[in-house]
Amino acid sequence: MDFKEEIQKRRTFGIISHPDAGKTTLTEKLLLFGGAIQEAGAVKNNKIKKSATSDFMEIERQRGISVATSVLAFIYKDKKINILDTPGHKDFAEDTFRTLTAVDSVIVVIDVAKGVEEQTEKLVEVCRMRNIPMIVFINKLDREGKDAFDLLDEVEQKLNLNVTPLSFPIGMGYDFKGIYNIYEKNINLFSGDSKKNIEETIAFDDISNPELDKIIGETAANDLRDNLELTQGVYPKFDTEKYLTGELQPVFFGSALNNFGVRELLDCFIEIAPSPRPKMAEERLVKADEKELTGFVFKIHANMDPKHRDRLAFVKIVSGTFERNKPYLHVRHDKKVKFSSPNAFFAEKKEIVDISYPGDIVGLHDTGNFKIGDTLTEGESLHYKGIPSFSPEHFRYINNADPMKAKQLYKGIDQLMDEGVAQLFTLEMNGRKVIGTVGALQYEVIQYRLEHEYGAKCTYENFAVHKACWVEPTDKNNEEFKEFKRVKQKFLAKDKLGQLVFLADSQFSLQMTQQKYPTVKLHFTSEYK
Ligand code: GDP
Repeated sequence: MDFKEEIQKRRTFGIISHPDAGKTTLTEKLLLFGGAIQEAGAVKNNKIKKSATSDFMEIERQRGISVATSVLAFIYKDKKINILDTPGHKDFAEDTFRTLTAVDSVIVVIDVAKGVEEQTEKLVEVCRMRNIPMIVFINKLDREGKDAFDLLDEVEQKLNLNVTPLSFPIGMGYDFKGIYNIYEKNINLFSGDSKKNIEETIAFDDISNPELDKIIGETAANDLRDNLELTQGVYPKFDTEKYLTGELQPVFFGSALNNFGVRELLDCFIEIAPSPRPKMAEERLVKADEKELTGFVFKIHANMDPKHRDRLAFVKIVSGTFERNKPYLHVRHDKKVKFSSPNAFFAEKKEIVDISYPGDIVGLHDTGNFKIGDTLTEGESLHYKGIPSFSPEHFRYINNADPMKAKQLYKGIDQLMDEGVAQLFTLEMNGRKVIGTVGALQYEVIQYRLEHEYGAKCTYENFAVHKACWVEPTDKNNEEFKEFKRVKQKFLAKDKLGQLVFLADSQFSLQMTQQKYPTVKLHFTSEYK
């Protein structure tokens, strides 16, 4: 198969949802269609239980499982599908944001009863900003939930999307009879006991056909006709181009648990979802079918075994092919490196591969050379953008609790920050180190890992910060900036890349600072240029 065909057949995407909407269940059913797994229950649920905040074993278990499920690949109808795992737990939201830089499209799962939830809103916003094509799957139709039209409204309003249903439910919960597939023009009947994959599909090009009344009953048939008429009047016609540019989002209904509506979703997905898209680097736009390899690290995973402290760096291939034992340029180090055992992922396993294509993810063993965002090329000095740091939500001083192990502590902190576990800020005034995280859970992860992987001990001390703002002076030499630096010295720090950050202690002081120093711009993400 030639290079271009290999690219065309790839679909790399992520499933995003609020915890419990059914992401794991849907992933598993998709894998069943690919024949990649034989039975349900094979995909481990990698969520952290809410009660587990102080359960280290749970954290470790989570980390172990998420290596295995970081990338799940399978073949379906000649398409190579790569699902990238996105943790739903909000403390790991940053992990998910980074993973979203490596997907070409996403499927958003929404619980029919709960509707649009908080985590979904945040994740969808990131996808919307990047114009990532999205398909919405409304799940758990076997349960009582919200009215389909109300839900579509809610999705449009809360997620700021422009939707069009490609399937429509017939009844719901107790009365759920099936789904009319607008895209394929057929009806899929649901029988409560069809828990396996047996589904009855009846073609209905023309829904005025009286046969419909016989099959689902007159009332349901008329309701469906009315509803479909209404959808045609209210929602735009589906247009693949608009979906691809992020202007229109098709919606499917179903029940992942009952494997209902999943095949329809998958069949439409492989047809419309994009193959690897061009990606913007700082220097230029890179197309997937360029011959030379380019790729970037979007995730780093530490080995769970403290005796083997190597890590796995996950590289998304943007263009060209990645070959085993071929030297590539590690752009940040300006050094050639080669890899004798790159891992590819298949279902829930990983194995060594000789060649990988755009859209694929390779896992590279790393002893500390990679950072999130690092780029590999065949010689070109290229830097992929798009992994900004957001202001953390929590801030604490980190103190060394074992003076004999200072070196280990700093090395550990350094490597954990490279992995993107949290953000490090060094105060300008006294050089003290402050760790910023998205969730409180990370502090325990860091403490535990420093001790078990690096033999270092740390303690924390609270540090009241409202928000970290990246500072951009209009003019470094103007008096205003100098005064800002002098007056706010106590609140200034450098991030890991040496960028100046203002740690505002309250919303009020942030506003006052903005008013007082209008030429000093304060940004809420590190990537403001
Ligand atoms: P995740 O947190 O988004 O990965 O959600 P899970 O896939 O773990 O699902 C959360 C819960 O919802 C589990 O108990 C599932 O069995 C259940 N669930 C998933 N899909 C359906 C569905 O279609 N119908 C019903 N009734 N329950 C479902």
